[in-house]
Amino acid sequence: APLSFSTTLNPSPVTPERRAEIHAAPGFGKFFTDHMVSIDWTDGQGWHDAGLVPYGPIQLDPAAAVLHYAQEIFEGLKAYRHADGSIWTFRPEANAARLAQSARRLALPELSEADFLKSLELLVSTDQEWVPSHEGGESSLYLRPFMYASEVFLGVRPAKQVRYLLIASPVGGYFAGGVKPVSIWLSSTYTRAAAGGTGAAKCGGNYAASLAAQLEAQAHGCEQVCFLDSAKHKWVEELGGMNIYFVRKDGTLVTPPVSGTILEGITRASILALAGEMGLKVEERPISIDEWRADVASGEITEVFACGTAAVITPLGRLSWEGGELEIPTGEVSMKIRQTLLDIQYGRAEDTHGWMHRL
Ligand code: PMP
Repeated sequence: APLSFSTTLNPSPVTPERRAEIHAAPGFGKFFTDHMVSIDWTDGQGWHDAGLVPYGPIQLDPAAAVLHYAQEIFEGLKAYRHADGSIWTFRPEANAARLAQSARRLALPELSEADFLKSLELLVSTDQEWVPSHEGGESSLYLRPFMYASEVFLGVRPAKQVRYLLIASPVGGYFAGGVKPVSIWLSSTYTRAAAGGTGAAKCGGNYAASLAAQLEAQAHGCEQVCFLDSAKHKWVEELGGMNIYFVRKDGTLVTPPVSGTILEGITRASILALAGEMGLKVEERPISIDEWRADVASGEITEVFACGTAAVITPLGRLSWEGGELEIPTGEVSMKIRQTLLDIQYGRAEDTHGWMHRL
């Protein structure tokens, strides 16, 4: 049965003036709305004590399992305001399914799609003034659902007490000064995921493990890391927080297959679905680093882009590795797909796939 949610309103919300200041310069994930949703889970009892509560610090025992063994998963999606003022999310059922998939991998309990959607609806309807106005270009309310082992216990086994929280943060367009190609570092030191590991789960530990590679990239003057497969250091997998697509001269899009070691991005899947309608062919197949280098050099690959909820689509501009670098051309295809996605998300194009969910 679906959970019933209690509501405890925040008695001291941010003033409208302060909110306007935040909306003018939100950054990413720096400011949070007045409320959050909290649901507890106890082994044997299931999910209980679901409610909307004031946003604020949580009590965490120093022996809470999450602080020691990182039994934690999360999601990321956005709420968009349309021209008529209504508020929508993009494919939230896919985020619910991915959270459940991550939960299975991290031995956490699954939250039903209905309860997940209800948590989004409750928070966004209560804090709707925090959803940036339509005039705000690419701004939105970023939604961050997450789940962690709250049990006070230092044994290594699945926690018997877990908490789900949902928080929200107004965010501006990812590119303040217009879309700009990012530079990419190919790490030969670090990999992100191995077969049988947690690469396909959205767990905090994957991101902690990516930070040293990110530092290595910065030390080489690059903004982002592209990870290769762990067995052969040959096959292109994905970026630290985005999937990757190659655009070929003949209008074919190529993206690495979901092999268990990459995160199954919802933007990635949406591009797969849209490509045909846009007159592009699409192939999910392994692509090697040698093919990337050779086909950029020969002009067979005309564009490379990364995709994800935060930036939608980001062109990749330069590829660097230990001992070399390569300029990647930029082109119109990436930007056309980007615009198509944004038009659906912001309600400027008809939602023929039924992807939009009104909150
Ligand atoms: N790969 C990784 C590792 C990510 O963290 C993300 C962001 N969730 C993505 C890809 C893109 O996924 P999505 O399109 O669902 O945002």
